[in-house]
Amino acid sequence: MPQFFHRNSGQSRSHGSPGNGRLENGYLIDYSLANAKYFSFSSYYLLGNGYINSRLYHTLVEAYKSCEESCPNIKFKYMECSSHKGGKQLIHRTHRNGLSVDFMVPKKKANQQSTFYDHLGIWHYFLEFDSNGKLSLNKEVEIDFETMGRHILALDDAARNHGLKIKKVLLQIDLKDNFYRSKSGQEVKKRGIYFAQYLSPQVDKFHDDHYHIDFSLR
Ligand SMILES: [Zn+2]
Repeated sequence: MPQFFHRNSGQSRSHGSPGNGRLENGYLIDYSLANAKYFSFSSYYLLGNGYINSRLYHTLVEAYKSCEESCPNIKFKYMECSSHKGGKQLIHRTHRNGLSVDFMVPKKKANQQSTFYDHLGIWHYFLEFDSNGKLSLNKEVEIDFETMGRHILALDDAARNHGLKIKKVLLQIDLKDNFYRSKSGQEVKKRGIYFAQYLSPQVDKFHDDHYHIDFSLR
């Protein structure tokens, strides 16, 4: 498992697009940070899907650091990134140039963070939420849109500091109204952070348990 021996150094280069690209000198995201963690041991160690561009690496680390203040006591999870050299991956059509990351939706139950369903590993991708963000398996658990928005704002700030910008966010179309109703969601809208307006049914279906973000060089 090369992930055990990987050391981040120097700068990465992303070539091509998320849908047709590759990554040079990819950085491996930490398996865990103070308030955030990679979602799956097998995705990280066996499949080697925790690699990203070095600029994005620094962006994520800084964003989670600032979330320690803006989202106190919240534990985040980040999901699949790219392979070491980018290119084709098992379950994604994109994620090929080291500038895409999937982020697990933060969840709450009676206004407290709920992490019960955060430990499913790869299976988390198959969780389903209704159009109000309530989990199909347990309607008491719902997406915490306010925390999600604060995280996206932190990513937007940190991306600027590292020569990146948020190019596009993919979230299930039916969930966007609820997201924009949150205070932080309104700020995301005000900043003009772009959310996909249309997704094909098979792509839309999978973007309720996570939001996918493509970054690009400024
Ligand atoms: Zn994705």
